[in-house]
Amino acid sequence: MAPVNLKLSDFSGMRAKDVLGLWYGYKKIISAGLDPGPAKKLEKVFSGYGLVFERIDESYDYKGRSRTYLVAKKTSYLKAAAAAYYDSRYDAVGALLGYPACCVKKHNAIIRGKGPMNDFVRRSAAGTGRFRWELNNILDFDGRLNGERAAGFDVSLVPHASLISHNPCAYDCAPSLKIARLNLALLRRHGAGSEADPALLARPVLYADDFNFAVLNGTSGPGGAAYSGTACVLGLEELRGALGRCDLAAVSGRRLTLSRKGRPVLQKDFPVKPLLLPFAL
Ligand SMILES: [Zn+2]
Repeated sequence: MAPVNLKLSDFSGMRAKDVLGLWYGYKKIISAGLDPGPAKKLEKVFSGYGLVFERIDESYDYKGRSRTYLVAKKTSYLKAAAAAYYDSRYDAVGALLGYPACCVKKHNAIIRGKGPMNDFVRRSAAGTGRFRWELNNILDFDGRLNGERAAGFDVSLVPHASLISHNPCAYDCAPSLKIARLNLALLRRHGAGSEADPALLARPVLYADDFNFAVLNGTSGPGGAAYSGTACVLGLEELRGALGRCDLAAVSGRRLTLSRKGRPVLQKDFPVKPLLLPFAL
């Protein structure tokens, strides 16, 4: 008999929102990249909860270390998902994972396109009216990092925070917002870790690319993002000192200006226009 109550701590090493989505049935399957050690332990946990699982082709993992598992409540879902993966039917995979059709469609269009693979954030931002903090997935790299550069990248250096497991078609996508709010409520009920932390999610992000960004402790306005310190910085090595000292980040064209008390401290021209993503409560 499967336990009646879910204990999230049994699933440590997995994203809580995925486990909850599977448990409450709004995800037919979940996919998780697990390192070999925890994977052995988790296989026993899955069985204990009456879940079925399958290890799929390792090439889906950008790190090349962990193994991708599909987990489901029913064998039929698992079979459908495995078949869809092997046939590269990512629309079917997306539906089984419980992702909105609009987001799956856009994600697949980017994957099929010839553009850079690390373009999800820019493309989502381009189609966005209001930046909903619940859809901020900057600190969630699964499904976004690909290629050689990603292979050498250690995601453990970055706190994990995101209420959704997919790349939203826009940061105000209505079906995504519905999922994010449900996840938020469930994460709070079951004791969320950093995944639902507004101190990481409801903050402006200075974004150059997936390997170079900063979550700023502040708020965005017409003149840029006024802030005091950073919640997280990835890459941006030559900016770190100034980022810490300054209180305003402004972007004009490809130029970033960091100022302190109204005076410019540092200006930097990026190869591609940096973004100030105005996520806020
Ligand atoms: Zn969408």
